[in-house]
Amino acid sequence: SLVPSVRLNDGHDIPQLGFGVFKVDPVETERIVTDALEAGYRHIDTARIYGNEEGVGRAIAASGIPREELYVTTKLWNDDQGGDSARAAFDASLERLGLDYVDLYLVHWPVPTKDRYVEAWNALAGIRETGRSRSIGVSNHLVPHLERLAAETGVTPAVNQIELSPYHQQRDVVAYCAEHGIAVEAWGPLGQGKTDLLGDPAVVGIAERHGVSPAQALLRWHLQRGFIVFPKTTSRARMEENLDVFGFELDATEVAQLDALPPTGEHADPMVIGA
Ligand code: NAD
Repeated sequence: SLVPSVRLNDGHDIPQLGFGVFKVDPVETERIVTDALEAGYRHIDTARIYGNEEGVGRAIAASGIPREELYVTTKLWNDDQGGDSARAAFDASLERLGLDYVDLYLVHWPVPTKDRYVEAWNALAGIRETGRSRSIGVSNHLVPHLERLAAETGVTPAVNQIELSPYHQQRDVVAYCAEHGIAVEAWGPLGQGKTDLLGDPAVVGIAERHGVSPAQALLRWHLQRGFIVFPKTTSRARMEENLDVFGFELDATEVAQLDALPPTGEHADPMVIGA
């Protein structure tokens, strides 16, 4: 595969480009993930709350691709935070996926108002000890949440999966992660259609210069910044387009031009989600 890997702080490698299945209809998930695997994706990002872990698992089973060539992430939903509840939720996710292990298990949101994310994180550390999740990490964790995990558990997440695009760069979280060896995964890498990021003149200009699509130009920005991405699409043509980003490179000026875009649009607030 042309997709490079990123070495995580626990020694495991993750393919830097994968396929996300947020809002992929459970009824269609097996077919869509089968298409993605056929297109060449080997890294799938799902979650308990997406309701489509079974479809992901069926597509993996039917693909015949050796398990060790695949990278599968799922996530602990907010209602399942805690100790025993997190362990039970993890077992249920593995069961739905039909897998013996996942590559990465994440605490989906901190939900600071409930104050159970430290307990959930300790449960994930125990799950990692069993080998049934090779790596563990968090999602939507802001600097105070990461500081608290460090202070109270001493266990560093392998990744933090956050909403991230040139319109929402979360510089403080990205800097913290860089300082502490936490890989950053960018969700909503194309802006989720919430803003016209794909039509931004800077993005379009760079795309035109390279003879690629705006989505491809944006994915290059993420990859060159070192972020892990898993754009979502249900279209086979766009799956191929989003994977076809290893034949060109943005130059330093182009990366800097996207780095300099101002914050634009409304974004998820991890302090209130799940409250
Ligand atoms: P995204 O930025 O990947 O945007 C997806 C949308 O972009 C699709 O609806 C599609 O219409 C469009 N698109 C895809 N490829 C395109 C192309 N080549 N040209 C034009 N438009 C294109 O947003 P996302 O799906 O929300 O994020 C990616 C993944 O991140 C998700 O599927 C999920 O796995 C993960 N995610 C995680 C969280 C979290 O809280 N941890 C939240 C949201 C998403």
